[in-house]
Amino acid sequence: MKKFLLSVLLVVAVTLSVVPAAASSNTAKPYATLSSTSVDPGETLCVKLRGTEDASGVRVENPFGFNVRFTKAGKNLLIGFLPVSYHTAAGTYTVSVLGDRLRDGGAVFTVQVSDKQFDLQELIVDEQVAGSTIFNDAASKEFRQKIWPLKEIYDDEKYFDGPFRRPMDGEYTVTTPFGFLRTVNGKPNPRHDGIDWSAGTGTPVYAAQNGRVLFADFVQLTGNTIVVEHGCGLKSWYEHLSEINVEAGAMVKTGDLIGKVGATGFATGPHLHFSASINGVYINPLTLTDSSFLAFGSAAKTSRKEQPVTSPRP
Ligand SMILES: [Zn+2]
Repeated sequence: MKKFLLSVLLVVAVTLSVVPAAASSNTAKPYATLSSTSVDPGETLCVKLRGTEDASGVRVENPFGFNVRFTKAGKNLLIGFLPVSYHTAAGTYTVSVLGDRLRDGGAVFTVQVSDKQFDLQELIVDEQVAGSTIFNDAASKEFRQKIWPLKEIYDDEKYFDGPFRRPMDGEYTVTTPFGFLRTVNGKPNPRHDGIDWSAGTGTPVYAAQNGRVLFADFVQLTGNTIVVEHGCGLKSWYEHLSEINVEAGAMVKTGDLIGKVGATGFATGPHLHFSASINGVYINPLTLTDSSFLAFGSAAKTSRKEQPVTSPRP
């Protein structure tokens, strides 16, 4: 009995001496955080890995069907975007960031997606304009062939540095907000994947952030179109331009003149269509321009008032 007690005490002593050491080595491990646990559809989450610059073996299990990849965003900081498409139903979802090298083997987050409603816009458009663009098979095919493959591009380098700037100087009326449901001449049409600002032909359009120009050319559907990769799969899109002042492959800096407002492609009047996407998932571009979402480490939130919706224009 004495011998048994002694061995029990020995085990307890050994366990006690081991636990603190194990705990401290666990807390020294890298760990994951999530930018928010509540999100509107059409916004994005950001997974951050702190205390490491190596994401090998880390996986993000999520119900949004998105393959999260990590990029260095600072010393001992990796980021990976997790967009929540505007098609996502309201509800409670689980996001798990797992990896043997992470503290506690990872973290599990419960994410609440809101039931944000997007309005319906019923557009009546000149049949000739619609027939040569959105109701035109050749235009759709060209868009699928030339533009869709760009959505897969992911530059490992983070070119963007802080929040985006708006792509035009001054204030412009929003003619179609992001995410609106649409019918065109009575037929259902895809969601509006960006924001439309009414502006005069020739209004300068600037790069919203540093990046690599993936595409700068005319396509039938969206007219003169520029797509910029800002790193981490984050892209900005500028459509219906009258002029393009940049070439594919060029590196641009925030505020560089890249084009001018026009009415090319599916447009009934001069306006800028400005979109943002994380790979193939479109997100609210105003979150990038008008909030501190991309200001890593900054808690200050700036807000600019959304302008009223007036006459519809694609
Ligand atoms: Zn538009």
